[in-house]
Amino acid sequence: MATATLTIDLDAICANWRALDRLTGPATQTAAVLKADAYGLGAPRVARALAQAGARRFFVALAEEGAALRQALGPGPQISVLSGHMAGDTDMIADLDLTPMLNSLDQITRHLEALPGHAFGIQLDSGMNRLGMEAGEWEAVAGLVLEAGPVLLMSHLACADEPGAAMNATQLAAFHAMTDGTGVPRSLAATGGILLGADYHFDLTRPGIGLYGGLPFADALPVARLSLPVIQTREVAAGESVGYGCTWVAEIPSTVATVAAGYADGLHRTLSNNARLWSGDTPCPLVGRVSMDLITVDITHLHEAPASLDILCPSQGVDDLAARAGTIGYEVLTGLGPRYTRRYTGGRA
Ligand SMILES: *Cc1c(COP(=O)(O)O)cnc(C)c1O
Repeated sequence: MATATLTIDLDAICANWRALDRLTGPATQTAAVLKADAYGLGAPRVARALAQAGARRFFVALAEEGAALRQALGPGPQISVLSGHMAGDTDMIADLDLTPMLNSLDQITRHLEALPGHAFGIQLDSGMNRLGMEAGEWEAVAGLVLEAGPVLLMSHLACADEPGAAMNATQLAAFHAMTDGTGVPRSLAATGGILLGADYHFDLTRPGIGLYGGLPFADALPVARLSLPVIQTREVAAGESVGYGCTWVAEIPSTVATVAAGYADGLHRTLSNNARLWSGDTPCPLVGRVSMDLITVDITHLHEAPASLDILCPSQGVDDLAARAGTIGYEVLTGLGPRYTRRYTGGRA
């Protein structure tokens, strides 16, 4: 079988959730963000494991993701939709008991008219200028909206992964100004915000990347291992080239392994001649260009050809690989793609 295996450690995800939960006081609840199929790792299994670990509130980007999550979790846990209440979402929101985070006056009107009495939250823009109502808009409708009983007032930080950024305090002040005295539960912090300290915690935190082993949660346990099967090995004479564009030329007689994954599987083409794969503890340089379905690796220094090589492992986490690809851990994880066999360890589900 030439399918690569993505092994996901559910116990590590739950341990990361508990560790982030411990960073906030007992009055602050910790939710879990499972948008984009739990950052590419598989929302149904991740959700069930986290629910067993004690998570009761989940966030997704889209109503469709919320619907899939409800199938996995069953009734009970709160599932919030960050894109709010879009035209066409009403039946899903009602039937699957989703909680939209309403972003605009349009959405508020749509929700209160279509589903009066159905739970909702409000997303406020504290300076990121992406989602949520601006201070002026909110001021105009706050009285009316608060009477309808939102379950949450939330906002999102633009620079939470930079503790020194002045923007954090600016957004914190803006969020206070929009929400103080409302008596409604509040949420401002994702993973980065949790690490900024107690001023940012409010009533609910919304970590995503930290659960999955990514920065800025430097203490996270690694979650994902990606093993690529070796399809073929060959001897390459000194002076011969490997791969598209002949970008790597053997300086000495070399052994090259061809492994089964490429840029169609989220292994960015920018990793060409610029990453390592691992045989146990031994690094092996990626040589030549990453192609759509294949990568070539110099294994000259190994005693025998391995059955597989790891590109994500404890020696090379998602942020290490991201740095080599010129991107961030979030993009590496969410880009992993559908062709891997996802294997789960730990968890009771
Ligand atoms: C993605 C997202 C989160 C989770 O962010 P992380 O940095 O992955 O912890 C929380 N809240 C909102 C609004 C988001 O879009």
